[in-house]
Amino acid sequence: MTNGHDPRTRGRWQRPLGGLGLLALSALVALPPAAEPALGPAPRSSDGRFTNTVGEIGHGSLGVRLPFFLRRMAGAFRSRPGAPERVPNDGAFLRENARHSEPTVTWVGHATLLVQMDHVTFLTDPIWSDRPSPVSFLGPRRFVPPGIALADLPPIDFVVISHNHYDHLDLPTLVDLAERDPTTKFFVPLGNAELLRGKGIENVHPLDWGQEVSVEGVRVVCLPAQHWSKRGIGDDLKALWSSWAVVGPTRSFYHAGDTGYFDGFERIGRQFGGFDLAAVPIGAYEPVAMMRSSHLDPEEAIRAASDLGAERAMAMHYGTFDLSDEPLDEPPERFRAAAAAAGFAPDATWVFDVGETRGF
Ligand code: ZN
Ligand code: ZN
Repeated sequence: MTNGHDPRTRGRWQRPLGGLGLLALSALVALPPAAEPALGPAPRSSDGRFTNTVGEIGHGSLGVRLPFFLRRMAGAFRSRPGAPERVPNDGAFLRENARHSEPTVTWVGHATLLVQMDHVTFLTDPIWSDRPSPVSFLGPRRFVPPGIALADLPPIDFVVISHNHYDHLDLPTLVDLAERDPTTKFFVPLGNAELLRGKGIENVHPLDWGQEVSVEGVRVVCLPAQHWSKRGIGDDLKALWSSWAVVGPTRSFYHAGDTGYFDGFERIGRQFGGFDLAAVPIGAYEPVAMMRSSHLDPEEAIRAASDLGAERAMAMHYGTFDLSDEPLDEPPERFRAAAAAAGFAPDATWVFDVGETRGF
């Protein structure tokens, strides 16, 4: 390690003996610092569309996908118990804290987090709409309303967006945020800026994997994820997908976006020397044949948090929208069980109520 912050020897997330083994090895052999492979730019296919570091990923056969979509349509008429609890959050503390900036994270629902750290306030993948869909009256149901009203938010310095799927890039919400405060910056992976500009959002900044910007002395870094993109007909893989790191003088935060398990977590963990907090997606893993390469199951989410060298892992991307087959309350149960089985401290494995705020 060149920076002296080997994530494997840091925090509560190290795998048993992993860090010790590495320490012992480096004590015995004076290894030259290995050059880290770059985390970008994102790979492209010969036709210019984006692809993953492992190449093209599968989404199951038509025999799996067709019945899945029929089940989603039928889901509009059946009840699904097990959605997360919701606690009231009027935003008063968060608005007051915008000036003092105690490090906090609030779960608004799904992949939407409000984070305050190092005197910046930002949102991840903000969606306040009832349905992640091109039309407001049709599409997957929202089981739990957003944890805080848009009008109650503190001023937002910036927004990071992971990719163009409707449950992550919600144009009505983005337009509301931009109208509320034209100084709010929107960071998107390559190929997504036009979508926002087409709605009159000007303060939008596209980044490739490995590129970063600075906001008030805080680094905002676009990083790999293993996923895909599609919003309309024929636009498959034309816009990039990503994860994001936000690194300030006192705190570091990682948002995995939407992703399958891949070796990028370990490479990112090494390059950043671990994270104080990593938000990892734990839902939308069934049917497995369709989801496996592009989503984490709870056990893989724990493995990813370990690879990332995260002090704390926060569960997200479950229980909010009707997106997949697994029972709504299964992801957090399996997440807690996987963390315990891997020997991680319960207070380092965070499962929130919608609307809940915690310090980190
Ligand atoms: Zn997605
Ligand atoms: Zn998603």
